[in-house]
Amino acid sequence: MPSELAPRRLLRRVLQVVALLTLLALVVVLAPGLGEVRDKLAGADPAWIALAIALELCSGVSYVVMFRPVFCRRMPWRTSWEISWSSLGMGSIVPASGAAGLALGAWILHEGGMPAERIARRSVAFFLIKSSVNFVAVAVIGTLMAVGLLGPERSLLLTALPAAAAAGVAGPVIDARARLTNIDWDVNADEISDFAGTTRVKLVNDLEAMAASTDVLTPDEVVVLQEGRPHPDGNAVVIAAGTGLGEAYLHRVAGRLLPLASEGGHGDFAARTDREIELLRALRAEYGRAEVEHVVSGPGLVNVHRFTHRGEPCGEIEQVAPEDRAAAISQAALEARCPACMEALSMFVSAYGAEAGNLALRGVALAGVFVGGGIAPKILPALQDGTFIEAFRAKGSMSALVEKVPVKVILSPEAGLLGAAMHAQGLLDA
Ligand SMILES: [Zn+2]
Repeated sequence: MPSELAPRRLLRRVLQVVALLTLLALVVVLAPGLGEVRDKLAGADPAWIALAIALELCSGVSYVVMFRPVFCRRMPWRTSWEISWSSLGMGSIVPASGAAGLALGAWILHEGGMPAERIARRSVAFFLIKSSVNFVAVAVIGTLMAVGLLGPERSLLLTALPAAAAAGVAGPVIDARARLTNIDWDVNADEISDFAGTTRVKLVNDLEAMAASTDVLTPDEVVVLQEGRPHPDGNAVVIAAGTGLGEAYLHRVAGRLLPLASEGGHGDFAARTDREIELLRALRAEYGRAEVEHVVSGPGLVNVHRFTHRGEPCGEIEQVAPEDRAAAISQAALEARCPACMEALSMFVSAYGAEAGNLALRGVALAGVFVGGGIAPKILPALQDGTFIEAFRAKGSMSALVEKVPVKVILSPEAGLLGAAMHAQGLLDA
């Protein structure tokens, strides 16, 4: 029997493991920022937790037992145990698909005098044996599920198929169907369901998707335009100018922010100045009715540009494809190349701020206003020059209220996708 397995030594090792596990448990229970982990653990079935711990222990022990025969049968048990436990520990600490643990093990063996070629060959063998266990386990469990001996899901492909799918679409979603506003597309949850092989499918409005992301955005994914004084029980709103103007509410229900879609971007444009009244007349002549989106969106910026140039040609956009004109106008304005382009961007930013303020009032958004969409990150200097926030705050008797509202620009282009993923997660939790 190896000396490592002598009763006294074994007892000491077991005590060390118990001490480590206690420390880990204390970290999980006491460390700040792990609230979600605690909630998940508290809601989990103790039998499953016990099973998970037992399987993890089996996995660890089999790793250690396999290590010596694969690398060198003449290696002392004690050395083999030390190297394999170090490898396992390293593999857990450094998330590099287990490679970090193997690398540490290889380094120790090399220091111990084992030839590099032998280490390389044996490492490959060890990795293959280790992975084949996982592969076989997935195949066996998948087969058992397929024939109905295990679990309610009858899918052989298991992890290859999505458990839930959610998609954000630019348009109103009615009866799990959406007709996209700005392109000629029909989207249907049933078709996605057939394609994805799961009944857990949800279609949400794109802004509703973006709204769901606000909870999980990190500080480096937003820029603060107004600090405000966020109210922890308040609602929030999202406004996003891109190819159109999206608006969504985040209502606080039982402590959580619940995304609600709206078609507010198609509401009436409210002119605030003589200049905007002129703009309103021009828009009404063109569209019959002026929507906020006719001003606050990419095509809206092009409308405002046409207005500030009084129909005269502007060299900044003459050679530019229609879909790239808004970006060209912003760029010309930010680089102060054309006074009329600069006025267009300034009017755009002011109208954007005013509408964000309107939305904050409608939703009583004391927890914050999030400015999303593709345009905001590209015109950040213009959003930060004071025009946006000045218009946002100019709400007469309600100015004191909107001054308290935090205003943040979402920089992450994946916010909509992230939010759709949050909706999909919600389907799994339901
Ligand atoms: Zn111009």
